[in-house]
Amino acid sequence: QILPIRMTSRVVRGYGRGSKELGIPTANLDTEQLKLSKDVTLEEFPTGIYWGVSRIADQSVYTAAVSVGYNPTYGNDTKTIEPHLIAPEHDPRRHASSTGETLLKDFYDQTCRLSLVGYMRPELPFEGLDKLIEAIKGDIAKAVQLGNEINDTLTTEKEWVQSDE
Ligand code: ADP
Ligand code: MG
Repeated sequence: QILPIRMTSRVVRGYGRGSKELGIPTANLDTEQLKLSKDVTLEEFPTGIYWGVSRIADQSVYTAAVSVGYNPTYGNDTKTIEPHLIAPEHDPRRHASSTGETLLKDFYDQTCRLSLVGYMRPELPFEGLDKLIEAIKGDIAKAVQLGNEINDTLTTEKEWVQSDE
């Protein structure tokens, strides 16, 4: 069982397509220096789109939609791990109590912590960027929903524990 798994790495440069062609940046992790919470290798990760939570350096925690694999619409030859950290405007519930700090625009070379929590779908080659963008927007919405459900569970558990004291 690979999930849930935590990892830490450095944010490196990819092809720059996420923000330029898709309008959706993904922080590419340095897969040579991945630190994993379990004794598995990157090869063992099923390719696909995952959801999880992520943070850059000591910033706050974001829900993330994460691509693991070869970006078949583009056909890369190396396997990458790329979280898109979901902005507060798309995830108001997670950030409801935040002080309004915004994620840096550029965090190359910074440390990224990422927990993969669930698997959402296999990676697919899309016919054209519009279809790809549509799919990623769907992935982001689903990740937000799953992230909020987990938060609800945690809150409920906390209340339950408190009422028991
Ligand atoms: P690259 O191919 O170099 O990864 P991208 O176009 O995918 O380029 O953009 C990713 C970069 O954008 C990240 O490394 C980071 O510096 C920046 N970035 C800004 N906002 C975000 C975000 N919400 N999620 C992921 N990366 C972001
Ligand atoms: Mg990227």
